[in-house]
Amino acid sequence: MSTDGIRELIIIGSGPAGFTAAIYAGRAGFKPLIFAGPQPGGQPTTTTVMENFPGFPEGIPGPQLMQNMQKQAERFGAEIKFSAVTKVELASEPKKIFAGDETYQARAVIIATGSSYRTLGLPKEKELLARGLHTCATCDGFFYRGKTVAVIGGGDSAMEESNFLTKFADQVYLIHRRAEFRASEIMKQRTLANKKIKIILNSEVIEYLVENKLTGVKIKNILAGEITELKIDGLFFAIGHIPNTDIFKGQIALNEKEGHITTTNNVYTSIEGVLAAGDCADFTYRQSITAAALGAMAAMAARKWLEKN
Ligand SMILES: Cc1cc2nc3c(=O)[nH]c(=O)nc-3n(C[C@H](O)[C@H](O)[C@H](O)COP(=O)(O)OP(=O)(O)OC[C@H]3O[C@@H](n4cnc5c(N)ncnc54)[C@H](O)[C@@H]3O)c2cc1C
Repeated sequence: MSTDGIRELIIIGSGPAGFTAAIYAGRAGFKPLIFAGPQPGGQPTTTTVMENFPGFPEGIPGPQLMQNMQKQAERFGAEIKFSAVTKVELASEPKKIFAGDETYQARAVIIATGSSYRTLGLPKEKELLARGLHTCATCDGFFYRGKTVAVIGGGDSAMEESNFLTKFADQVYLIHRRAEFRASEIMKQRTLANKKIKIILNSEVIEYLVENKLTGVKIKNILAGEITELKIDGLFFAIGHIPNTDIFKGQIALNEKEGHITTTNNVYTSIEGVLAAGDCADFTYRQSITAAALGAMAAMAARKWLEKN
């Protein structure tokens, strides 16, 4: 086990929230240490082109955007470790961060561990993600103008995504495993009233049909056992997403329902000197630009804490 000196700031996560926090903290004179984690660059590295991040009129490939952010953070003195944090002791002063056998100590910590989307886990899913299979209608709905898409889910998110997609797609199928939606009444009514949405209940997708790209799905009716094929150009998952917060359980306050970090005033957690930014805490907006904005806020809040203490 190696022991490091006490650092001013450690940032856990290298997505838009983590790197933006590092840029702000670096420019403020702190030399943050960033743990890049299992997905260096975060979720944007899985998308081909990002068209709604301001400053890039033609869009920018997600991996390129994240390389730029990394370079910018390093330019202001950020140090990056390409390993994952495995354990934390946040109540201690200084706070302790463990990455395998290594122990690190810091006066302030920014958690920016993001989230993972629930998918079906069917064969071919990895290669189809962002190329026919999607996790965010706000991000990728635009690519389906005049096409046919399907949404899987039965909650408010599924209703919201379906309605949003009708702005672009000619036809939206909403596929749900159960006979009843668990969405709020108002969202249900809005969805049922939308002529572009066709609802398929008691059904689950069991296979992706692929001919160079996604061409459709096989659907099984759970009650009748009948299997049918549905031709679609794109499929959107709205079956929830899981914040990457397991290692913080029992240490900071987490939202009981899904485990997002509970914050007040955008970025303050239940422990002083520990800030949270991006999708690990935000279950509403979940965009790169909002994660980046929260990263900037967390860095400014960390600076205040470090200057005060
Ligand atoms: C396919 C796809 C397309 C998208 N398209 C768009 C789009 O067009 N526009 C848009 O604005 N948004 C888009 N989004 C959403 C956007 O990418 C996310 O909202 C954003 O990345 C959240 O940023 P974040 O920094 O909070 O977390 P993430 O990007 O999820 O990054 C989390 C980071 O934390 C690290 N981490 C996790 N656990 C640990 C650990 N134990 N130790 C150390 N590090 C850890 C990971 O390695 C990763 O680096 C898309 C998402 C996906 C999946």
